[in-house]
Amino acid sequence: MNITVERLPEQELKPLFADPTQLGFGKVFTDYMFTAYYRKGQGWVEPKISKLKALQIDPAAVALHYSQEIFEGLKAYAGPDGRILLFRPEQNARRMYASAERLCMAPVPEELFLQGITDLVNLEKRWIPKAPGTSLYIRPTLIGTGDALGVHPADEYLFYVILTPVAAYYKEGFKPISLYVEEHYIRAAVGGVGNVKTGGNYAASLLAAAKAQEKGFSQVLWLDAKENRYAEEVGSMNMFFVFGRKLVTPNLGGSILPGITRASVLELARSLGYEAEERPIGIDEVIAGLQDGTLTEAFGSGTAAVISPVGSLFYQDQNHVIHGNQVGPVTQQLYDRLVDIQYGRAEDPFGWVREIGRL
Ligand SMILES: *Cc1c(COP(=O)(O)O)cnc(C)c1O
Repeated sequence: MNITVERLPEQELKPLFADPTQLGFGKVFTDYMFTAYYRKGQGWVEPKISKLKALQIDPAAVALHYSQEIFEGLKAYAGPDGRILLFRPEQNARRMYASAERLCMAPVPEELFLQGITDLVNLEKRWIPKAPGTSLYIRPTLIGTGDALGVHPADEYLFYVILTPVAAYYKEGFKPISLYVEEHYIRAAVGGVGNVKTGGNYAASLLAAAKAQEKGFSQVLWLDAKENRYAEEVGSMNMFFVFGRKLVTPNLGGSILPGITRASVLELARSLGYEAEERPIGIDEVIAGLQDGTLTEAFGSGTAAVISPVGSLFYQDQNHVIHGNQVGPVTQQLYDRLVDIQYGRAEDPFGWVREIGRL
């Protein structure tokens, strides 16, 4: 694959953000982006790295009307030894492929996905922040373009990748978040697209999240669409409940996102001697566990936040505190292990980390 690189003159490059711990999430973008186009009869053409700028797409583009849009999220880490590391990027490539197939979009070949990211991140390596907890967040995006308003899959697609240096995801830092158990709105139903990383799922979730935030909660815990009973997931995270030495996470029943962090936490936990179950878990079981003390911790998992301790659950007018609203030892251990692997500070017995270059 021949990726064209259109370099900017030195004086046009943006200055780096002065204090990486104040970056927030997704507010500062780097100088370049990767783009490639899918054209009917031609396949994927014109892979290119060029200046990050506004897109020109037809106002009738399918993405804008019928939501053919999917995305991914992964991070590049600065290793202490100067290696540039990605965490399981081929898993993101495969998930994006599956997402595309579900939404009738032209899938991005794994090689194009990985090479585009590798070359872009290497060109932009000065933007990988080095302060603890910071990283360079990578946002691959696929949209249906084309120019006809009839409801049908697009015949042209744009794949692009943008980069944003980020601090830790939650402004609270590695502190417990508060969840509102949502009983009125639902996020996704089995048979729909809840297991697809598509913007539409987020659009559908914004109102409930805004209402929960108005009431002072960090996020919504979604329940299943059919019985309004089983825990599903949270915002952009999968959910784990800890019962002593046992972890329980909702099984991938089709309505929740198959998180790569979730899969990694399951493997990691088992290797550390925990029992880990993937099964439906009812909110009644969660509340009973909190009342009788068998449910000892809870946390969310996702690339952006890595692991986010949950300090309380608000359900049916009652607030239930988890582990005294403190970070529990299991959550802390899994978080430490996982970030040490991601940042190349610890051995990687699972073969998860990919070196894609040097700083
Ligand atoms: C991306 C995402 C996750 C987490 O997936 P990771 O691969 O662990 O980052 C969880 N839920 C939703 C809805 C997501 O979009």
